[in-house]
Amino acid sequence: MMNPHSCDDAHLAATYEQTPPPDLLALLEEQDDFLLLGHVNPDGDAVGSVLALAHMLRDMGRTVAAAFPSPPPRWWTDMPGADLVQDNPRQAPVVIALDCDGAGRLAGLQPLHAAAQYSVEIDHHSSTDRTSDILYVDPAAGATGILVFRIIEALGRPLTSAIATCIYWAVATDTGFFRFANTSTEVLEICARCAACGADPHSIAHTNVGIRPLPHLILKGRALVGLESYLDGRVLASAIGPEDFVAAGADRTHVEEIIDDIRLAENVDIYVLFKAIDLDNRWEVSLRSSVVNCAQVARDFGGGGHAEAAGFTFDGPLEKGRTRLLDALSKALPDHHHG
Ligand code: AMP
Ligand code: MN
Ligand code: MN
Repeated sequence: MMNPHSCDDAHLAATYEQTPPPDLLALLEEQDDFLLLGHVNPDGDAVGSVLALAHMLRDMGRTVAAAFPSPPPRWWTDMPGADLVQDNPRQAPVVIALDCDGAGRLAGLQPLHAAAQYSVEIDHHSSTDRTSDILYVDPAAGATGILVFRIIEALGRPLTSAIATCIYWAVATDTGFFRFANTSTEVLEICARCAACGADPHSIAHTNVGIRPLPHLILKGRALVGLESYLDGRVLASAIGPEDFVAAGADRTHVEEIIDDIRLAENVDIYVLFKAIDLDNRWEVSLRSSVVNCAQVARDFGGGGHAEAAGFTFDGPLEKGRTRLLDALSKALPDHHHG
């Protein structure tokens, strides 16, 4: 009897919203020197989609390097392909930005992308500010890792254990381990296929959500203790500043997912976390909501993201930025009576 979950299955039952553009597939087949870049403060999707595509290209015999504008959290060395990542990458003729809501998210690596002979963006954010020669953007996709999976399928390349692990990692983390609104049939089918091909759901979940560095837990505790309600309880917000990072022994990599615990609070429409690591008074903001369009609000403040999860940065003081944001949120909230 045929195993329905065999790694050799040629096709998934799900039909894709969008197949990769032919010019991208041709570029991947024809070029032989690639640099793959993920966004600043890289998350599981950024690292997983970059490394999955890097594995595919290396398996095809191509020269390939990967880089990130700032270091990913410690877990990333558990992902296959750490040897593909370089601290000071050199210019390559083809430079591909993955999981970037516009090339600005490449921060210090943006010049390499801008100077490429062929610049490419592969992404599932909704930004319309795209500067690349070749675009593969599908905001309906649950993760950038999904787009890389579609590329591998379209090229008929094998889903090796290393690639399957990177894609599962990317998709599982971006969907909050299959809890968030972007968890689709396609997400579940692709992850099932990756599990059949060597991804280990238990160990990936354990690494990402089953165990946390102590500084992360202490920092999260400080963020939760500081939660305050605004706009008649419709907004829940907290702030962690330089003193919190020092007290927790934490760095920027320990911030991820604190907002996911804040968004557990019931009867709240919008969740906000303000973060400032250094004494330079530069604040990063995480926004979460299924009631207002976070990406639109964040974009008005020069940031970006998705409808349900977005972010931006501002120069302090905190109180001034918080007042401005609350003002924007009160206008964005439906049925909110002003004055
Ligand atoms: P975070 O709150 O940092 O987990 O980010 C949530 C989403 O918003 C992710 O898709 C980020 O890429 C995006 N995002 C966060 N901060 C910014 C920013 N300053 N500019 C553009 N996009 C951002
Ligand atoms: Mn990301
Ligand atoms: Mn993503």
